[in-house]
Amino acid sequence: MIFDSHSHTKFSADSDMTAEDALAAARGQGIGMVFTEHLDVDFPGELDFSFDPETYWATYESLRGDDLRLGVEVGMQASTVDASRAFVSRAPFDLVIGSVHLLSGVDIYERECFEGREKEDIYRAYFRAMAESIASHDFIDVLGHIDYIARTAPYKNPELSYGAFADEIDAVLRAAVAHDVVLELNTRRLGNRRALKELAPIYTRYRELGGTCVTLGSDAHDAQAIGANFAIAEEFAQAMDLRIVTFCERKCEFC
Ligand SMILES: [Zn+2]
Ligand SMILES: [Zn+2]
Repeated sequence: MIFDSHSHTKFSADSDMTAEDALAAARGQGIGMVFTEHLDVDFPGELDFSFDPETYWATYESLRGDDLRLGVEVGMQASTVDASRAFVSRAPFDLVIGSVHLLSGVDIYERECFEGREKEDIYRAYFRAMAESIASHDFIDVLGHIDYIARTAPYKNPELSYGAFADEIDAVLRAAVAHDVVLELNTRRLGNRRALKELAPIYTRYRELGGTCVTLGSDAHDAQAIGANFAIAEEFAQAMDLRIVTFCERKCEFC
């Protein structure tokens, strides 16, 4: 069964999705799900991107089974590695995603993150932070949305363009392979032809460097987004010779 291995229910500060709505949507498509609630220690702004792992487990444990796994998406910063590691140890999570959401403590989702900065400069910093974070966060299974910055970057061409950042992207991919971290294929932007075209050389390179698997993740914050663009994603993974996997009890499973 294919799994949507990245989603947020109401335990995430920016989502109101109920587990029941999420599961109904997934079952309607014949796919499984992993809930991956937000943990972003020391996140700037008003929202508290944390939750109580014991309550999360107690609330959802009865739903957990063949088509539902319980995970967490950890926002990676050099200063919060120990706090995040301690958090992850408080529940028997099935899957831990590591993601870069901040650059020098500023939210990539906010326009101020990009003010007065050239794309080349900020994208290099973004990839460097990602490679370093993979190495320091020794408790993650999956690297979330490598193209996160392209969702919000205010440039005419926000794409990652492998040719322009080959050294930096290679460092991210090498770190993932070396640390046994699976690259996520985030499906949110796969309906965009240009995004799909620009992502292809990155995943081809990942395969060349020894990567063998990807997870598929919609990053859904509402039920309508679950499984978004999965047909495109499955075709893409197959074309790249990458197997689609998910995780159970922190172990990789073929879908
Ligand atoms: Zn994320
Ligand atoms: Zn997410």
